[in-house]
Amino acid sequence: MNDQPTASVKVEIPRPKRGEGQWELGYREPLNKNEQSKKDDNPLNVRGRILGIYSKKGFDSIDPADLRGRFRWMGLYTQRAPGFDGGKTAQLEEEELDDRYFMLRVRADGKVLNADALRTLGGISTEFGRNTADITDRNNIQYHWIEIENVPTIFERVEAVGLTTLEACGDSPRGFLGSPVAGIAKDEIIDGSSALEEIKRRYIGNPEYSNLPRKFKTALTGHPSHDVAPEINDVSFVGNVHPEHGPGFDVWVGGGLSTNPHLATKLGVWVPIEQVPDVWEGVVSIFRDYGYRRLRSRARLKFLVADWGRDKFLEVLEKKYLGVDLARLESPETPQHQGDHIGVHEAKDGRFYIGATPVVGRIDGTTLTGLGDLVEKHGADGVRLTAYQKLVVIGVDGDKTDALVEDLEKIGLTAKPSNWRRRTMACTGIEFCKLAIVETKQRSIDLITELEKRFPELDSPISINVNGCPNACARTQVADIGLKGQLVLDENGNQVSGYQVHLGGGLALGANFGRKLRAHKVTSDGLDDYVTKLVTNYLAGRESGESFQS
Ligand code: SF4
Repeated sequence: MNDQPTASVKVEIPRPKRGEGQWELGYREPLNKNEQSKKDDNPLNVRGRILGIYSKKGFDSIDPADLRGRFRWMGLYTQRAPGFDGGKTAQLEEEELDDRYFMLRVRADGKVLNADALRTLGGISTEFGRNTADITDRNNIQYHWIEIENVPTIFERVEAVGLTTLEACGDSPRGFLGSPVAGIAKDEIIDGSSALEEIKRRYIGNPEYSNLPRKFKTALTGHPSHDVAPEINDVSFVGNVHPEHGPGFDVWVGGGLSTNPHLATKLGVWVPIEQVPDVWEGVVSIFRDYGYRRLRSRARLKFLVADWGRDKFLEVLEKKYLGVDLARLESPETPQHQGDHIGVHEAKDGRFYIGATPVVGRIDGTTLTGLGDLVEKHGADGVRLTAYQKLVVIGVDGDKTDALVEDLEKIGLTAKPSNWRRRTMACTGIEFCKLAIVETKQRSIDLITELEKRFPELDSPISINVNGCPNACARTQVADIGLKGQLVLDENGNQVSGYQVHLGGGLALGANFGRKLRAHKVTSDGLDDYVTKLVTNYLAGRESGESFQS
């Protein structure tokens, strides 16, 4: 590794005539209401007002700028009020869709959740969240129906088990995706857990990094199966072995989906684990200083990376932010499929880990508490969440695996899922999300039930990602069958809930975005038959070894 300080080289970045709100080019004046709100008051300060004022005086005392802006930095969003169909989503102002209840995210950041943590998370759900809890595809536990009066108690309980809601939402470094098998997988390249912990310790809740142009997503894995969807994060660290220096990480930047998807750019550099937090800080600082802040739709790192290109991004990172040149190295081999770790696997210490799945991430508080009890009963270390709305039980003795698999099944978590249950994800959708146009979770649960009847055995994996709007929180463009919620016309010409279909997307080897054809639209009611037709055609027409994606 070459970590000698570089000669001081000035990096010239021309100042465009029309600024996009890039701070470092002198455009410091807020160009929209989100930027104004962040300038008016650092969003992290809202915690004090939640604890000291709003939780005591109630919902009506909340300053609207906090309610619809800064609350997000504490993991809180107002949830969608019931009674508005998807047609209203675009017609009404956000505040008209506001309920008096909140969605709350707790970030897990790749940590092992032990029995106490799981029972605490479960108790919060049953006591304060009407028994709701979802595992998101970003290592979060997400509750609904939270009332402002209960937030201080929830914060206290979450923090008592080493977790936080801090910056789980907002224009901030959101929850990290870490490998669910960090430190335990036999074939691991490197355990990156300590780097994630250090990033969190130094930078989460740090006011220097709490006013970003928009959200900033981090992924880190030392597992060869790239099990954290590194292609679609703002910054990803991916295990790679340097021929001289040994195991470390490749750095990828500027991935993201939503309405303008980009796969991450590989910088072609290798960093040792000790340097990961500094490099993370360099990348997030570039985003903070040069990211576009005028239009929310362009305020993601992917646009800056696309405009600058790899070489310029790397030059600015090394020369302006790190002061050292990073070692050059080809990126690691891309796996055939990204690991979801479902099933029973032997770990490197001779014990086992068990990947199990709820249905599209939907669990509840009772299940979380039950899971905590099972971890204790079987003497396991705990549970990690995955990037696919699933979970992995860690540290199980060999003679306990069968009993644990059976017990997991009893609480609705299976280690032997069908293809459909294993490979279908769904976002929050119209049940709670103010941006949603259609229902997602229950529709997916029904779809899975039906597909399990129609195709009980499948010898080739097919993934389905169901999204309630174009924002692609459940990754519309990178599934075999990606569904983007929208209103469509039924056979009588009426507008009804449905989906634009994207076909043949994927991550890992052959990563690409699914094709979107105008004709590929389906009503929600017609979804079961539509997917059935797709799968039937694929099975009938495939050549030997041909995947759905190809
Ligand atoms: Fe909400 Fe749309 Fe994201 Fe689904 S994809 S959670 S509907 S913003």
